[in-house]
Amino acid sequence: MRLVLVPTPIGNLEDITLRALRVLREADVVACEDTRRTGVLLQHYGLHKKMVRLDQHTLRRAKDLLAGYSYVAYATDAGTPGISDPGAELVALAVREGWQLEVLPGPTALIPALVASGMPTARFAFEGFLPQKSSERKARLEQMAQGRTVVLYEAPHRLQQTLEDLAKLYGPEHPVALARELSKLHEEIWRGSLKAAQEHFREPRGEFVIVLGPKAQDAKRETQNPEELLEHFKGQG
Ligand code: SAM
Repeated sequence: MRLVLVPTPIGNLEDITLRALRVLREADVVACEDTRRTGVLLQHYGLHKKMVRLDQHTLRRAKDLLAGYSYVAYATDAGTPGISDPGAELVALAVREGWQLEVLPGPTALIPALVASGMPTARFAFEGFLPQKSSERKARLEQMAQGRTVVLYEAPHRLQQTLEDLAKLYGPEHPVALARELSKLHEEIWRGSLKAAQEHFREPRGEFVIVLGPKAQDAKRETQNPEELLEHFKGQG
């Protein structure tokens, strides 16, 4: 079987490649995390396709659900399948089963957030969503990469708690950027300290990427110095 992972827009329907549209058009079936969401995209581009739901609950039956198809396109709710979504499990299955796997380059929230943050991009660590269980969360926060910019995904209802946890570990004055609603009407790139972020986002709405500056003691180059980064961001928030 040929399985092609198709990145889809994270907010603006125009953010899809010509190749992605061709794969969606030519595949035997479009497997997706949510048929309603992917259906909107397909409809926008005039594609009338058979869809199969493959989300975290149905993934364990993926082999059966995809049996009989020789060319499958897979899309998650937004961005690149396999980045903090059920796509990773499908990739593992494809590798185990020896399916022909192709991953198209395309939209993802982490790269525009990282670049727009103004933090050093030469070295960064993507930590995805922090665990929700407090013991696992604490351990993850302690292990988090040092000397590099750290990119995190977070749901709006957990943003305050996460900013608080980060402030405890990195200090309230540590520089952070929040990329909110990327590529959407209310896109906002906010830059400042962790403490100021807590104040600014008291009632967070929308989707967020958190970009933390590298830890001070590990900063080698001038531009990685958090104090200087904060100075630089002053007046930009
Ligand atoms: N596969 C996706 C990707 O490639 O970025 C990520 C899927 S993950 C389930 C969803 C998270 O990505 C959100 O909670 C948010 O942190 C981030 N995200 C997705 N779209 C975003 C957007 N338009 N603006 C900011 N963050 C976004």
